[in-house]
Amino acid sequence: MVDSPTRVNPDPRRSLPSVARLVGRVAAARPDLPEWAATEGARQVVEAARLRITAGLADGRGDPPREPEESDPEWTQWACRVAEGLCRPHPRAVVNATGVVLHTNLGRAPLAAGAADAARAVAAGYSNLELDLETGRRGGRLGALEAKLCALSGAEAAYACNNNAAAVMLALRALAEGRDVIVSRGELVEIGGSFRVPDIMASSGARLVEVGTTNRTHPADYERAIGPTTAMLLKVHRSNFSQSGFVTEVDLADLVTIGRKHGLPVVEDLGSGTLLDLTDRGLPADSFVPSRVATGADVVCFSGDKLLGGPQAGILLGGRTAIEAMRTHPMARALRLDKMSLAALDWTLGAYLEGRAEDEIPVVRQITEPAASVELRARALAARLSDLLEDAAEVSTLPDRAPVGGGSLPGFEIDTWVVALRSPRGASQLAAALRSATPPVLTRVRDDAVLFDLRTVSESEVAHVETAVVGLLV
Ligand SMILES: *Cc1c(COP(=O)(O)O)cnc(C)c1O
Repeated sequence: MVDSPTRVNPDPRRSLPSVARLVGRVAAARPDLPEWAATEGARQVVEAARLRITAGLADGRGDPPREPEESDPEWTQWACRVAEGLCRPHPRAVVNATGVVLHTNLGRAPLAAGAADAARAVAAGYSNLELDLETGRRGGRLGALEAKLCALSGAEAAYACNNNAAAVMLALRALAEGRDVIVSRGELVEIGGSFRVPDIMASSGARLVEVGTTNRTHPADYERAIGPTTAMLLKVHRSNFSQSGFVTEVDLADLVTIGRKHGLPVVEDLGSGTLLDLTDRGLPADSFVPSRVATGADVVCFSGDKLLGGPQAGILLGGRTAIEAMRTHPMARALRLDKMSLAALDWTLGAYLEGRAEDEIPVVRQITEPAASVELRARALAARLSDLLEDAAEVSTLPDRAPVGGGSLPGFEIDTWVVALRSPRGASQLAAALRSATPPVLTRVRDDAVLFDLRTVSESEVAHVETAVVGLLV
């Protein structure tokens, strides 16, 4: 007698529940969840199980993963959890206790309250976005933004677009499409996976000409590569790593000299820049935008939401001809800044112009706050936690160092203070539970302790940390 193959080795995919029946169970268990979420939650868990089984079958190494029987309440619980997750707003506010001021996964720069208010005011109603109120005619979208950027940086002209990747793309399109752009091999960087200089170059339609070696590039390397099809000399900031040892690069000022000699525009992708001179606080001189503009580079571009501490934006500063070529390029329309970011950026630049940046812009405040003042917040939190937790955890306060992050200031760390928590629950488990708190609290984990870095936790957020920890451990 020959058994059918399915009887000998039944396909485990057959034990998957029907999506329709699972939707019904989710709806019955959680009538508060909307129908779309119940449906999508059920569909996603069945699909995930099917993929797991298929992967298990495909690799041929024994039994496929076991899935619970269709009638098992585990299916319903799993689908309810997924459905619930789908209903949570995204993104939502979290407490950043990692100490990393510009945390890419946490939305980079938090806006100043005034900048957020400015964005909200134009978001929730009509605005004079492209209207000149005096004449009643169509007006410039950027308003006084260009004047503010020029006043702050010393640049002749300025433009702002969606983000810095867009700024680089626009510069390449407008100034070098179909022609050659010379870049040092030491600057062919990748910033966070989605921005790789060679890829951006390829999609801009400009041809990359690499010069020098990984560790050393000399003026003569650029000179030799210049030819009739050369359109631009590009310098890219090594935003997220540093080189040391037998290393040479060509300064922006020297690159400008070469560019002038050959009549070629020089563009710097600075990545992260500030309009406040913070070199006396240990920040590298090349992060101060006016000093880059002063080299005479045709274009310097950087992000609005890195060291500047504003909204997501790409800021382009430079000579009138180059900026005008970008502003009027058809691509600019596709990369333009939205009205909310525009309002927030305008407010942020106003704060710099009026000398309020250090007090009001969170990124600037966090980077410049003295360690002793962070220590006070850490000690206060530790004292309260010790009282509230009693024997549930061991609480201590210690000095530490944290990077600024966000593709800014590689190798630069700020002195800070952390509260360290050790509990029988184990550090990674506690850190994971804190991520599920309301609001979620993000921490560092080291030597089986959860570390709360108070540099990025404001006075008003300390209570959230306290509530989350006590909620989990008491
Ligand atoms: C961060 C960075 C970018 C990308 O900027 P976004 O504003 O994130 O688009 C590009 N180039 C450099 C050198 C950077 O550091």
